[in-house]
Amino acid sequence: RAKDAGGNQCAFFDIGMGELTQQRFLTEHELRIGIPAGELRLFVQPQVNAAGTLVSCEALVRWQHPRRGLLPPGVFIPVAEESDLIIELEHWVTREACRLLAQEEMAGNPLHMSINISPRHFRQSGFCDWLIDLLQQEGNDPAYLTLEITEGMVIDNIDELVAKMNRLSKLGIHFSIDDFGTGYSSLAYLKRLPIDELKIDKTFVQDAPTDPDDGALVETILSIAHHLHLKVVAEGVETPEQAMFLNSRADVIHQGYLFGRPEPADIFLARRWQTLS
Ligand code: C2E
Ligand code: MG
Ligand code: MG
Ligand code: MG
Repeated sequence: RAKDAGGNQCAFFDIGMGELTQQRFLTEHELRIGIPAGELRLFVQPQVNAAGTLVSCEALVRWQHPRRGLLPPGVFIPVAEESDLIIELEHWVTREACRLLAQEEMAGNPLHMSINISPRHFRQSGFCDWLIDLLQQEGNDPAYLTLEITEGMVIDNIDELVAKMNRLSKLGIHFSIDDFGTGYSSLAYLKRLPIDELKIDKTFVQDAPTDPDDGALVETILSIAHHLHLKVVAEGVETPEQAMFLNSRADVIHQGYLFGRPEPADIFLARRWQTLS
């Protein structure tokens, strides 16, 4: 029992829970406290064109945990996605991103940024109103914001999804399909949704030069994007061979360690201003 454990709070969770469940329970509990306590960090990763010029970037959240150190999203996003906690988390990320974009815009060098929006959050009835309010409050031009959604979003209630996306799209907000090709939905949705961009998942990108199957998959995605007039972002580009494979086939935007890792937003911005001046 917790009392006998002499201050070890974790013992409280022992009754009837597996170790993994306990860990998730604790993570959720600590995140619920950690978000309002200011423990989230906005990291940013560059997206560059074939010439190596910065064209956009992606906001990727991290959690500065008081005991466990800086945690990658894989550790806590799946936990957050099981409850409305993901909404609170993405409110934080979106607000930070919008502030940063507004600041860069005011300084005369606007920046494009993508943020990840989970299905639960996007499906929430007040999502559009909330985002439009936020953009107004922060003074953003919506055209600099891209929302990354996944194929999982498309599975049910496509009419409502289309209506919401159209509403935001008319204001200038862009949409991207993240991890394209890893979901299970039919391709038919691609022509119904106001999408601007496909992101090729890193598993395909990384093996494309060496594995003919992955190579063929990447070529198929490039071809779909070409025919539907969509931009393509390749995730996880780590080697010159991978970059070359893509560049020799299409006009692709690169996001990967070869061009820059995710780094704290202030460091990313400082570096950007150095190259601009
Ligand atoms: P994602 O949206 O597909 O983001 C791309 C992931 O690939 C990032 O992992 C990025 O750091 C990683 N990556 C980029 N280039 C390379 C590379 O060259 N090599 C390798 N090995 N990896 C590379 P990260 O930052 O760990 O984020 C993982 C996932 O967490 C993201 O995948 C996204 O699904 C999720 N995530 C992050 N922030 C948020 C958020 O605010 N909301 C939601 N719902 N999910 C988020
Ligand atoms: Mg993403
Ligand atoms: Mg992705
Ligand atoms: Mg991915």
